[in-house]
Amino acid sequence: MDRKITRRDFLNGVALTVGAAMLPADLLAALDADPEKSPNYYPPALTGLRGSHVGSFEIAHSLRDGTFWDTAGKPADTGEAYDLVVVGGGISGLSAAHFFRKSAGSKARVLILENHDDFGGHAKRNEFRAGNRMLLGYGGTFSIESPAPYSAVAKGLISELGIDVAAYPRYVQKSVYRSQGLTPKIFFDKETFGSDKLVLNPSRHSAFDEAEMGEPSSDAWKKFLAEAPLSDEAKADFQRLHQAKKDYLPGLNSDDKKARLARMSYAKFLTDLVGVHAEVVRFYQTAPHGLFGVGIDAVSAQDAWGLNLPGFSGMNLDPTPGKGMNRDAIPNEEAEQYFFHFPDGNASIARLIVRRLIPQAIPGDSVTDVVTAKANYAKLDDTSSPVRIRLNSTVVRVKHAGDPASAKEVEVSYVHGGKLQTVHAAHCVLACWHVVIPYICDELPDAQKEALSSAAKVPLLYTNVAIKNWTSFQKLGVNAIYAPGCYHTQLNLDLPVSMGEYQCSHKPDEPIVVHMMKTPCRPGLPARQQHAIGRAELFRTSFETYERNIREQLARTLGEGGFDPARDIAAITVNRWPHGYAYEYNSLWDKFWLEGGVTPCEVARKPFGRLAIANADAAAYAYTDAAIDEAYRSIEEIKKRT
Ligand SMILES: Cc1cc2nc3c(=O)[nH]c(=O)nc-3n(C[C@H](O)[C@H](O)[C@H](O)COP(=O)(O)OP(=O)(O)OC[C@H]3O[C@@H](n4cnc5c(N)ncnc54)[C@H](O)[C@@H]3O)c2cc1C
Repeated sequence: MDRKITRRDFLNGVALTVGAAMLPADLLAALDADPEKSPNYYPPALTGLRGSHVGSFEIAHSLRDGTFWDTAGKPADTGEAYDLVVVGGGISGLSAAHFFRKSAGSKARVLILENHDDFGGHAKRNEFRAGNRMLLGYGGTFSIESPAPYSAVAKGLISELGIDVAAYPRYVQKSVYRSQGLTPKIFFDKETFGSDKLVLNPSRHSAFDEAEMGEPSSDAWKKFLAEAPLSDEAKADFQRLHQAKKDYLPGLNSDDKKARLARMSYAKFLTDLVGVHAEVVRFYQTAPHGLFGVGIDAVSAQDAWGLNLPGFSGMNLDPTPGKGMNRDAIPNEEAEQYFFHFPDGNASIARLIVRRLIPQAIPGDSVTDVVTAKANYAKLDDTSSPVRIRLNSTVVRVKHAGDPASAKEVEVSYVHGGKLQTVHAAHCVLACWHVVIPYICDELPDAQKEALSSAAKVPLLYTNVAIKNWTSFQKLGVNAIYAPGCYHTQLNLDLPVSMGEYQCSHKPDEPIVVHMMKTPCRPGLPARQQHAIGRAELFRTSFETYERNIREQLARTLGEGGFDPARDIAAITVNRWPHGYAYEYNSLWDKFWLEGGVTPCEVARKPFGRLAIANADAAAYAYTDAAIDEAYRSIEEIKKRT
């Protein structure tokens, strides 16, 4: 553990310290000119601090701080004119380009401007080399999955791309971990629970666990209670919570109970209504982190019921979703079956769309060969192509040329390679994060700007660690770990999927990717404040700190299986997403969500002149299908204006 860590985050440290003090002119000059043209340009293989990487956010932050235009100067006109300019190269922006071309024709000229060094937005591919093999990981979006069924539009795009969702069982190698006897476990840490201990997980919370391991055995609870480092009182309360069929709100009908539960946190439900020991609350505190980005102090009891957390079996709640219920917590059988995971997550969807838009940029022609295809980044922004994707380009201003009601074009200014320049567009889709839009689009009505600003996203950390073998997991009999008191609260061996020429790791002595997840938050505060604090924490934390925490956690969790971080870790990629999930409404904090009426996202996504607004934020729903649906709507609106 004490072996030296190289300061791979040196640049990050520099950017963070100078970023605040730098003038926009210095910021511009500090950026590389046209890095994408370098033959070695290949962002998926970069390790260290990724996600919102250094160089992607500084310009936007100087806009936010009101300093950008002080010294930025006048943008140079590139003379380029497009039928459509899209701001944001995530799945929504890429889908918007796709839908636009379907109606405007394949000769339509489209430019996509993206501030990161890669396309796909949250659908991010992480590549590693371990020995002589390539390992893939998902740096963001994990899979095709959504609590609600995909719409006809979203399903249509998925099948147009050639993805046969029903064929997924052909690719997932369910026997890999089962044949080794691996099961999900819980890591109790000594700071939170008094001792470090890995214990069988008696319940399955994620689709990942169920898809992989099947239902837990019937004596799993007995084993868990015998082994868990919990007090006798806490163990008795665990049993009561899971077994007693008690109605904790007697005398109310189901609707009234749900209304009460929607305004009460699950933590309060556990302490005030069920009356469980503090250790039980601590155990469940981080259970909803992966979906909500906050713990049970900020998630309603009604949502906890929808998520299948314990305590509701005697309450006779009508399974029809209740008012104000978060869509993440509404179970739907059709949606559950619509699941597909590529080895790089939904980055393959982004790559398949890019292949349609710019065939020369992604070689190959099948849905399986895209997994190993090496993208040619030099072809993304090629003058000969009707569709161009310009990476490392932060849009700083979007403005109609004249009165928005009658203007014939929009001017879009952006910074690329240290230069501030303008292109012209007949139409523009803003598929970027909604909180950015008020800073780049001054013309919008104030009420719309306010609604856009309220969509601050949920921060998340998705860490991928390439390790040389997984013998320690095999010795400990574990493939997935819930760690409620640790830095990363979830830790999984990669979901074993082989597709095309890509083979997942089959044997414990082969290299593999370990995926770790953290949601930075501050329990006890309202959800949005927790997200704001977590967002700042992600930007502030250096790679060195992330790496220390990763090494320490892996050593403590897997040490008894023989894991040695200095020996066994091949590479680390930390994908920080200070602006992660689209903010979903929460009945504890967003009173309108219970009361009905127009929601902020409906105000935020209104078209304005030649502008239309997409992104998953436009649906306040953090899923790929939302990104696609909102892209489709934005193009339908543009068609009406044409
Ligand atoms: C960690 C994580 C895991 C997820 N897992 C899943 C999952 O398993 N399944 C699922 O369905 N959904 C998942 N989601 C949600 C899903 O990824 C998103 O809903 C969807 O991909 C969002 O696509 P988007 O295009 O709307 O936004 P984004 O992917 O965020 O793309 C918007 C792009 O606009 C860019 N941009 C912002 N401002 C500017 C500017 N001024 N100039 C230029 N570009 C700009 C941003 O940098 C970004 O790249 C996950 C999200 C995260 C963060």
